[in-house]
Amino acid sequence: MSAIPEIALEKCTGCGDCVEKCPTKAVELVRDKAIMVRPEDCNYCTDCEAFCPSGAIKCPFEIILTKLEPQS
Ligand code: SF4
Ligand code: SF4
Repeated sequence: MSAIPEIALEKCTGCGDCVEKCPTKAVELVRDKAIMVRPEDCNYCTDCEAFCPSGAIKCPFEIILTKLEPQS
């Protein structure tokens, strides 16, 4: 995995929810905007995206589950 969460700064209100929820402290508020200050610590849990009330964070690595058809 190489991508980290993308934060749209124009949408970020600086509420700090993502900072509070991030289990690895990869994201912090810098001048009232969420910034990935330690991207190497991100464990791709997607909590920041789930909790951001303004939809400013997008996790490009979200896992998409697909249904496998049984082989006949
Ligand atoms: S995906 Fe998880 S570990 Fe990575 S910045 Fe968001 S909350 Fe933190
Ligand atoms: S949760 Fe969203 S709006 Fe709040 S600081 Fe983080 S990115 Fe910004």
